[in-house]
Amino acid sequence: MSHRRTMMVIFSALLATAGTLADGAPALAHGAAGPNEVGGLTVVQADGFATLAWTPVDGASDYQIERTPVDSGDVATGAPVVTGVWRPNRQVNNATPTFADAGFNPGDRFRWRVRARFGATEQPYSAPVFGTTVAPWGDPAVPGENLRTQWETAQAAQFTSDVNEYAYTAAVDELSDRVRVVEIGRTVLGRPINMFVIGYPAPPATPAAVAATSPLLINCNVHGNEPGDREACLIMARRLAFGNDARTIDLLSHTTVLIVPTINGDGRAANTRGNSTGQDLNRDYSLIRQPETFAFVSMLREYRPVAGYDGHEFGNNSAGDLPMLPPRHQNVARSIFDESQHMIVGHMYEQGAKDGWWPCPYGCAGGGSVGLSEETILRNTLGLKNVVNSLLELRSAGGATRPDEANAANNRRRKTYSAMWTFHEFLDYHRANLEAITRARREAVGFQVSNTGRIVFRGSRPIPAFPAPHPGESPPPVDAPDPSQILDSPPCGYKLTEEQYHAPRTDGPSGMQTTVAQRIQAHGWKVVTVADGYVVPMLQPERGLIPLLLDAQAAEELAGAERLSPTLSGRHTGPLVVSSGIACLAGASVTGPVTVMAGATLIATGTSFGGPVTATGAAGVFLTSSTVVGPVRISGTTGAVVVAGATIGGVVELVGNTTGGGTPLVAGNTIGGPLRCSGNDPAPVNLEIANSAVGPKTGQCAAL
Ligand SMILES: [Zn+2]
Repeated sequence: MSHRRTMMVIFSALLATAGTLADGAPALAHGAAGPNEVGGLTVVQADGFATLAWTPVDGASDYQIERTPVDSGDVATGAPVVTGVWRPNRQVNNATPTFADAGFNPGDRFRWRVRARFGATEQPYSAPVFGTTVAPWGDPAVPGENLRTQWETAQAAQFTSDVNEYAYTAAVDELSDRVRVVEIGRTVLGRPINMFVIGYPAPPATPAAVAATSPLLINCNVHGNEPGDREACLIMARRLAFGNDARTIDLLSHTTVLIVPTINGDGRAANTRGNSTGQDLNRDYSLIRQPETFAFVSMLREYRPVAGYDGHEFGNNSAGDLPMLPPRHQNVARSIFDESQHMIVGHMYEQGAKDGWWPCPYGCAGGGSVGLSEETILRNTLGLKNVVNSLLELRSAGGATRPDEANAANNRRRKTYSAMWTFHEFLDYHRANLEAITRARREAVGFQVSNTGRIVFRGSRPIPAFPAPHPGESPPPVDAPDPSQILDSPPCGYKLTEEQYHAPRTDGPSGMQTTVAQRIQAHGWKVVTVADGYVVPMLQPERGLIPLLLDAQAAEELAGAERLSPTLSGRHTGPLVVSSGIACLAGASVTGPVTVMAGATLIATGTSFGGPVTATGAAGVFLTSSTVVGPVRISGTTGAVVVAGATIGGVVELVGNTTGGGTPLVAGNTIGGPLRCSGNDPAPVNLEIANSAVGPKTGQCAAL
C-alpha cells in the first residue's frame, strides 16, 4: 500500500523531532526503559488509524494502549483514555505486537503510550510517541478530491443519506474520467442501485470489455442497518477516482474496480436489515426473488468479477475486529475455496499483524450458528459462480479490546476505517495475485463443466482456527453435510415443465415477480428447449449451483425439476446417431463417429470419441472434458452450445448457431486443428479462459 510507504516517511520525520517534544522525557524507542516498561514504541499513521508497535515485555498477559489529545505543541488538551487492549489472540505473530488505534477524528493530533499488564497488575507506561493523524483523503482545494461524504462532514455523527449518496456518486462520476457509474437496477421502492466502474485512464466501455480485465468487486451494504462498509466504499471510490499516487494508478491500469455501495437502498434508508418487504437480501442471491438481488446477479453475469468482498457488521463482542470467511459450500470448486482462504489466511492475517488489525474466521470465538453453507448467501453464491471471495464482518461493538467506543462516532469510525483497510488490502491482493486468482477460476470452471463428483445440497468445508489458538480461539461451526444432503451420482441435467419454467410466481414483491425462466437467464445458465419442456444441463460453469435451485431435494429449491440420468456410461461400438431426444454420455466410450440430428441433444462429459462429432440443427450440444479423435462441427443449433475442457484432434467449427438458450461457450479446449466460428448469434465467448489451438482461430472465435 502506498499510504504505508508514505506514512513511513512521516514516521521518520516524527522520530527525528519527537525527542524534543516528548513531555520532557527522553524519547522513544531507544531510550532506557524501566523494569517491565514497554520499550521501542512507534506509531505509523494511515487512513483513519494509527499503528502502534512495541517490543514485547516478558511475561505480559496483555497491553493497554492509551491515547491523549494534544495541541500542536504537544500539550495535552484532554484526558488520557485507554482506547485499546492488545491480547495475544489478536495476531498471528506475537513477537511483534501491533495495534491499530482508531475511532479518533482523522487529522487530530495525539500522544500515545502503551503499558504491559501482568494479570490485572499494571506496569509502567512507555515513553510517549506523538503524531498528527491523517486527514480525510483529498486536497480541499482540488475539485473532485475535495468531495466529502455526509458521514465525513458530520464527523461520523450522521451516516450518508440516500440522497447524499446519489449526489456524491454523481459528482464523482462527473468529475473523474476514471469513473463510470452505472445503474444496475432499482430497489422495490425505486431507488437506484448504482455501481462505480473504475479504471485508468478510463474504465472499459462495455461489460464484456470490463470482464476481460479480470475485475474485482466490493459489495458494500446489503443489510441496511450495517452501514460501516458503505461509508468506507464511498471514501475509497473518491481516492480511486482522483488519487494520482503510483499505487492507485498502477492498480487501475491493470484491472477494473467494481463498487456497489448500496444494493439495499430501501433498507439503508429505513435502517432495516431486510429490504422494504422484509426480505433478507443475503438469503436471496440464489433464488433472486427480489429486484435487488435479481439486478445484482444479472450484473455478475455481464461483468464477471474474478474476486469479491461482501461487507457486513457483526454483533459479537469477543470476536476479532474483522471476521472473514470464504465460500465454504462444498459444491464450490476446491480451487476457489483454497484461493479464497489464501487471501484471508495468507494475506489478511499477515497484513493484519503488521498493521494492527485483527482479522479472524467469522463464527469463531462462540460466534454461534453463523457462516454456514447457505447458497443463498452472497459469499457462497459467488463461490458457486467461481469467484474468489470473502465475507467481511465489522465487529459492531468495541468490546473488551476497544473500550472507548461508547461514543457512537468513535465506534463508527473504527468500523469504517477497518473496512477501508480491508478493501485496500483486497485491491493489493488482487494486484499481486491475479495469476493465482485467474488460475483458480480456470480450474474451477474446468471442474464444474466436467460434472464429476458428488452434489452436496447443504454442507461446508471446515475452517480451522488459524493458527490455533490465534487469531480465533475456536473455529467456526463445522457444518458438515449429513447423508441426506449428499447426492453421490450427479444427474446430467434437469428438465422443467412448461408450467415450472414459465408460470407466474408469487415469491417476489407484488408486481415484480419473475419467472423461473427469467431467473435462470439472470444467472446465465444455458437451456435447451425439448419437446416436453426445458433442459438445464449440468455441464456448465455454475454446475454446483444448478441442483441447489432445480433439485427437489435442495434446501431452498426454486423448482423441483426432473433429474435426467446418463443414458450411456459404458462402451458403444461403431457409429452413434442421436436422432431425437437427449443422449447423455458420462464416462462413456464411443468408437465410431457421432451424428446429432436436427432437434436432438447431445450432452457428453468424460467421454472418448473415436471419430468426428457432427451436429446439424441440434437443439443442444454440450461437450466437456472429453476427447475427440477428429473434428467437431456444430452448426444450426437452436438451443445452446458448450464445448469446454475438451481435447479435440481436428478442426472445431461453429457455424450459424442461433442459440436463444444462451451464449455459446468455447473455453479451455485443446484443439489439434483450427478453431473457426462464423454466423453464430450470439457470438461464442470463452469467459476469459483461452483455448489452445494448433491451427488459426478465425472469425468470431479469433480472440478465444
Ligand atoms: Zn450483514
